[in-house]
Parts: sequence; C-alpha cells; structure tokens
Amino acid sequence: MSEIELRNVGKSYGSLSVLNDISLDMSSGEFVVLVGPSGCGKSTLLRMIAGLEDITAGEITIGGKIVNDMPAKERDLAMVFQSYALYPHMKVADNMSFALKLAGVSKAEISRRVTDAAEILGLEHLLGRLPRELSGGQRQRVAMGRAIVRDPRAFLFDEPLSNLDAKLRVKMRGEIKKLHQRLGKTTIYVTHDQTEAMTMADTIVVLNGGKIEQMGPPLELYRNPRNLFVAGFIGSPE
Ligand code: ADP
Ligand code: MG
Repeated sequence: MSEIELRNVGKSYGSLSVLNDISLDMSSGEFVVLVGPSGCGKSTLLRMIAGLEDITAGEITIGGKIVNDMPAKERDLAMVFQSYALYPHMKVADNMSFALKLAGVSKAEISRRVTDAAEILGLEHLLGRLPRELSGGQRQRVAMGRAIVRDPRAFLFDEPLSNLDAKLRVKMRGEIKKLHQRLGKTTIYVTHDQTEAMTMADTIVVLNGGKIEQMGPPLELYRNPRNLFVAGFIGSPE
C-alpha cells in the first residue's frame, strides 16, 4: 500500500498558479527526493503534504486516509528545515523533548527516546548545550533529533543541508542515508542539488515551474532523461 499519495494536487495563490496536477505515489520506507530550481514549488509541495499549507486542487492521502482537511499535528509527519528552527533558549535535550512534553508523553519514555536519538546522531555529549554553542552540523543533527524522537510515520526534509559548507554537506548526506537505513521511514527530501538527489534517492521527482517533468530511479533519469531540462538538471556536475 502506498504511504503517501498525491492525486492531481494543485496550488494557486489567487490567480498565481504555483503547482499543477502533481500525482505521486510513495511506498512505505521509500526515500523520495524532490529536486528542481529555486521557485519551482518544492517547499510549497512539502508544506502541503505536512498540512502547513492548504491545497487548492486534488487530494492527498496518508496511510490510506484523505488528509486534505486534517490539521498538521494529526498527520504524524516530522519536518526538518534548512533554518533548523531550534529554540535558542533551550538546551539540546529540551529542544528534542519539547514536542513530546506537549503531547503528554511520560518522563521515562521521553528520556528513553532522547537518549536513543542522541546516540544515533552522536549528540550524547551535547545534550546540555544551548544551540548557539553548537556548530552548524551539530544544530542540524539536533533538528533531526527533534524529528526522530517523535517517531513519526514519515520525515519531510526541506533543503536541510544548504546552510552547511560543502565538506560537511557530503558527510551529513551519508548520515541521513544511514539514518534512513536504520529507521526505515518514508522520507521526502527536498533539494536543488543534483548530487544530493543522485546519491540519496530511491526515486527522484524533477519539478520545474510547478509541474513534474519526470520521476524515477536516479539511474533511469540519468540514462533516459525525457527532455532537455531533465538532462541538463540531472546530468550537469555539482
Ligand atoms: P522552491 O521551494 O522550489 O524554491 P517555493 O515552493 O518556495 O519554491 O515557491 C514556489 C512559488 O510560489 C514561487 O514563485 C513563490 O514566489 C510562490 N509563493 C510561495 N509562497 C507564496 C505565498 N504565500 N504567496 C504567493 N506566492 C507564493
Ligand atoms: Mg524552498
């Protein structure tokens, strides 16, 4: 069964059409990368799946349920942003546990989940620090930790590495893939970076001007691009 399904999804702001006729089928555990140039609608699409933005056409189904009118917090998805969005006055451990406390999860369970996530992400020694006392890569790990502790149905990443330098980006790419192998969660990963798409995806979805140009496994797109745009986008070096 498909885990997240989009049927002819569209979005307009007044007369401005931003996304058109997007249909997608993500199976459980799949790592889908949405790739495309700046302004093509990647973040909007992710925010619509997360429930942070209304859709103006079509249907989104999560775990077999139509969620068009379901509030974000009931969708059981965890989003990780480029800006990290950490609470600056809270220590790492509190940043990670905040949402769980709000949700009424027991202290013992919170402690267990935070310990597990910290171990997975190599954050054990940083739990008592404030965000400003961390490097960019460490902050991004905390943002991922905050998503992991919630044990969501799926992860949504919006250009999580674009604030990091090139070397760290390559390292974090590998870490996110390992995390995916370990947790096996359905993941939608947005990037404008072709190399990230090629190295991380089970399925690449190429967006351009609010439409899907092509989707498929990385090698298939690389070998059989449907048009010049896909060829240029997937084929050109970093
Ligand atoms: P991407 O993430 O691919 O860079 P976005 O999804 O952020 O693209 O934006 C897609 C298009 O939608 C852009 O043209 C942007 O200007 C427009 N857009 C995004 N949010 C709004 C909004 N709240 N009102 C009007 N236009 C918007
Ligand atoms: Mg964006």
